Amino acid sequence: MREDCLFCKIAAGDIPAKMVYEDEKLVVFRDINPQAPQHLLIVPRKHIRTTVDLTTADNELVGHIHQVAGKLAHDLGFADNGFRLVNNCNADGGQVVWHIHFHLLGGREMGWPPG
Ligand code: AMP
Ligand code: ZN
Repeated sequence: MREDCLFCKIAAGDIPAKMVYEDEKLVVFRDINPQAPQHLLIVPRKHIRTTVDLTTADNELVGHIHQVAGKLAHDLGFADNGFRLVNNCNADGGQVVWHIHFHLLGGREMGWPPG
């Protein structure tokens, strides 16, 4: 837990969020500025700054994130139509919150290439 980190504070329950899933490794809550009918943020409880900071110790965690993304897409009813699972990394990737997170976007057709 980093005292200066927004997503650490949300994971700890110190800042409210529209929580949709929690387990010992992850929290998942609704993005405050949704870009699709369904826009969830999948956030590890562990403070990891970016994808570049992942180590082999995090391999199971990253696999778990993908498994939970598929389960939530199924439970929320958009798995069959499809979805986008996105990690924005560093400045060119558009990252603005410096605690690793994955955007799960669904409920509409996505464009390609991404902006
Ligand atoms: P990124 O550009 O990948 O770093 O995305 C950060 C995301 O966090 C953005 O989509 C924001 O809308 C979202 N966000 C920022 N503050 C909050 C908050 N307090 N609760 C929920 N989502 C947030
Ligand atoms: Zn953090």
